[in-house]
Amino acid sequence: MDIFEKCYNFKTADETKAQGVYPYFHALKSRQDIEVIMEGKRRIMLGSNNYLGLTINPEVIEAGIKALEKYGSGCSGSRYLNGTLEMHLELEAELADFLGRDATMTFSTGFQSNLGIISAIVGHGDYVICDRENHASIYDGCKLSYGKMLRYKHADMEDLERTLQSIPENAGKLIVTDGVFSMGGDIAKLPEIVALAKKYKARTMVDDAHALGVIGEGGRGTASYYGLDKEVDIIMSTFSKSLASLGGHMTGDAKVVDYVRHNSRPFIFSASITPASCATALTALRYLRKHPEIVQRLSDLSSYARKGLLDRGLKIIVASTPIIPIFTYDMMNTLVKAKELYEAGVYVNPVLPPAAPQDGCMLRTSYMATHTEAILDEAMDIIQKVMVG
Ligand code: PMP
Repeated sequence: MDIFEKCYNFKTADETKAQGVYPYFHALKSRQDIEVIMEGKRRIMLGSNNYLGLTINPEVIEAGIKALEKYGSGCSGSRYLNGTLEMHLELEAELADFLGRDATMTFSTGFQSNLGIISAIVGHGDYVICDRENHASIYDGCKLSYGKMLRYKHADMEDLERTLQSIPENAGKLIVTDGVFSMGGDIAKLPEIVALAKKYKARTMVDDAHALGVIGEGGRGTASYYGLDKEVDIIMSTFSKSLASLGGHMTGDAKVVDYVRHNSRPFIFSASITPASCATALTALRYLRKHPEIVQRLSDLSSYARKGLLDRGLKIIVASTPIIPIFTYDMMNTLVKAKELYEAGVYVNPVLPPAAPQDGCMLRTSYMATHTEAILDEAMDIIQKVMVG
């Protein structure tokens, strides 16, 4: 059999294109901002993870330019060997300090961080226990590890406890959860998870990709949100969202971080974060520390959007984060509405299977600290017109 047969038989994308509702790969001709030029037209951006709007912050851009000039375009090697800049160490030290923990190590992307942390920590005979709605990179990290992965129903603490009870008492156990769930926008029940971890002698890891800069004191994430700063064993996050750059990190106990630094293949065998990305992440982090009010502004605008959507008759998931999914249920309805919104000038992201159940599809809207009430009103009026009539 030709191994390419599946490629030649792959029709889904072509069929969706033929129906005129293909939602992916729209190209931008502008910066990632509250409004963008996408395929020649202005669209209000309600589908970005640029939560603090820092991708266009002058200080952040200036730092990127300076780093590019000073250090060149790339590091041409792994952190392990020739690819460590003093600036990588500065970024790691600053993040560890921000999160009030011993140590941080950086990876080239958030995805790679999950691959690299989980595969290094979870070995033969170990168990990794995941919320069903965890991000794909966590799943792939589990697959890459030599341990056994078990899943519990989303946010179901009884199911988590049953799962923990089913594991041999002496086996190593790591519970991994998104801090803020990427599609639903709900916050993990960390106090219960931490308590169960203690009861069953498991360790905990939280993916704060959508929580860093978003929730917790000054944007310190999910552990901070619950006042559990020292209780979570591993905090992982990405620089591609609030920190307006590219890269990821692991933060925790120095001995554990050092072990991962010397045993993680996705870390050791991959090139380090580019100078410009490192400088922009570091500058965004410093900006966040200097301006904690932007986290409050993000929260206020998210509340404004939540209320605005409810007042306009939309069915949404109500959490307390800048991710607000609107229910569209059926897959084709979701694609059609996404397309109609796009044509009317609002960009949102469809959430389709496997990221959502067949009959539980959604349009994921997300908000930025730099949005204004006026632009949100404009977007929400369009959403109401398209979705409610
Ligand atoms: N974890 C979560 C929860 C995410 O949402 C994402 C990105 N969508 C990642 C990890 C991967 O991060 P990155 O895009 O920086 O590789």
